[in-house]
Amino acid sequence: MEKQFQTEVSELLKLVINSLYSNRDIFLRELVSNSSDAIDKVRFNSLSDKSLDIANGDLKIKIIADKDKKTFTVIDNGVGMTETEVEENIGTIAHSGTKSFVEKLQSNKDENTPDLIGQFGVGFYSAFMVADKVDVYTRSASADKADGVHWHSEGTGSYTIDKTELAEHGTKIVLHLKEDAEEYLEDWKIRKIVKTYSDFLSYPITMDVEKSLPKADEDAEPETTIEEETLNSMKAIWTKAKADVTDVEYKEFYRHISQDHQDPAEIIHYRAEGNLEFDSLLFVPDRAPMDMFMQQENKGISLYVKRVFIMDDCKDLIPDYLRFVKGVVDSADLPLNVSREILQEDRVIRTIRKNIVKKVISTLKKMKNNDFDKYSKFWQEFGKVLKEGVSNDWENKDKLTELLIFESSSTEAGKFTSLDDYVKRMPEDQKEIYYISGLSRGAVENSPQLEAFKKKGFEVLFFIDPIDEWVTQSLTEFDTKAVKSVAKGDLELDEKEKEELEKENENFKTPLESIQKVLDDEIKEVRFSSRLTDSPCCLVADENGMGVNMENIYKAMNQ
Ligand code: ADP
Ligand code: MG
Repeated sequence: MEKQFQTEVSELLKLVINSLYSNRDIFLRELVSNSSDAIDKVRFNSLSDKSLDIANGDLKIKIIADKDKKTFTVIDNGVGMTETEVEENIGTIAHSGTKSFVEKLQSNKDENTPDLIGQFGVGFYSAFMVADKVDVYTRSASADKADGVHWHSEGTGSYTIDKTELAEHGTKIVLHLKEDAEEYLEDWKIRKIVKTYSDFLSYPITMDVEKSLPKADEDAEPETTIEEETLNSMKAIWTKAKADVTDVEYKEFYRHISQDHQDPAEIIHYRAEGNLEFDSLLFVPDRAPMDMFMQQENKGISLYVKRVFIMDDCKDLIPDYLRFVKGVVDSADLPLNVSREILQEDRVIRTIRKNIVKKVISTLKKMKNNDFDKYSKFWQEFGKVLKEGVSNDWENKDKLTELLIFESSSTEAGKFTSLDDYVKRMPEDQKEIYYISGLSRGAVENSPQLEAFKKKGFEVLFFIDPIDEWVTQSLTEFDTKAVKSVAKGDLELDEKEKEELEKENENFKTPLESIQKVLDDEIKEVRFSSRLTDSPCCLVADENGMGVNMENIYKAMNQ
């Protein structure tokens, strides 16, 4: 019986068919994931409906590439569809993801549309990217053999739907490949796509492959045999319970997704339950890759929806200052064909992101408290990146501040102190936290500006990374103590010291004024200072002025 597609479907099909330049590989991802969903459903139904006769061990998805007929077939023994279900599911656009995609298309028809389809898929209709004719044979698990359905379409305005007898429940989709899509008949191509997009699906995806047998003797003709091979590893380890994953498995998986040969420094395996459910398996690498600061190469966090790969490096899932974190997030609350544009404003994504940030920060905090050496090593690799968060992430600023560590006048070179340890060491008469900025430890260590602090026994943090000064613009206080540069203003003096200093300034008024006159264009003020003990003089920045490093940065920019 011939029927017309819903208008939206026709429009969508036109787009799909003409999407020459998009990534067509994803048609297989879409079909395979539908099959996987269908198997999930039949398994679920069989729990309550004992009349459903399904062999759990046999649940699988099979791919058959026929080079003679030029057909590409995907078969599953999932839940299948009744005739009405086929009408509803394939003849109309009912599900929210594709629907909003179509709405978006209608509101802004720009030239990138084909690429969007390629990237995100439009479910079942993706089949028409590679096929000019599609046959669907399906039988619902609750229907009789005689009540199978055959659906056929050439992707134009109409389709046919007829009854047919089918021996097994489940769905068989036969794609009659377009001439320019015959590459999909090659074993290696199929293997590659399955590995890329569907490796972690929990049912086997199989294909019959030709294997050559060992020769009986030298002169015998080579013999071959057909073997059914499983193409995916089926290891969605992030959906497993922690207790069921071994350390080796975690590390193998990390290697697989990161191409990093080192073991990760931290493994964060975390399942959120409640309003929003998602699985995440995240890693903090041991070393920064060469390209840490060139973000293009970064793989970051991959997004999966129900174990189906959606995209690499999903930047909306993690703030920039945690871009060293790698791993997988798998959500059941997103549609498969979610697009990057949609992600940006998606509430689900925002909530996941918040959760992840919290989890990563608490992991780092634990590392810092339990194994400071390990944390220091982490810091040397990624501290520069993490520091950006202190000025960028207001919500987590306090927690991020706790993660900061610095070299100081009390640490050896290459060793660090945290702010809370600094505070613990503060002598009673020290009320503020001090830092000195400079280009290197050597440069700040010998600065005359440190002298008075040393004499008083006040520890001074070394801000010797150019970004430190930027950080401190938003770090004005820690633990209710002001954070101050030694180069700005004066040390707090007790009454006696103050009097002495005033007297000195008074006594030397004339020479001070004459120096001031000579240097008038270069400096703001000449005065006696409490900060020097051994050196005769030093330059000091104004309390509200720029720091030394900032000045250097501006100079470098010719400002
Ligand atoms: P989505 O998977 O996002 O719902 P699709 O366009 O991929 O969108 O599929 C539309 C619907 O068709 C599915 O929701 C499902 O009900 C049905 N369907 C597709 N493929 C199969 C299949 N292999 N077995 C059973 N039902 C299927
Ligand atoms: Mg689908």
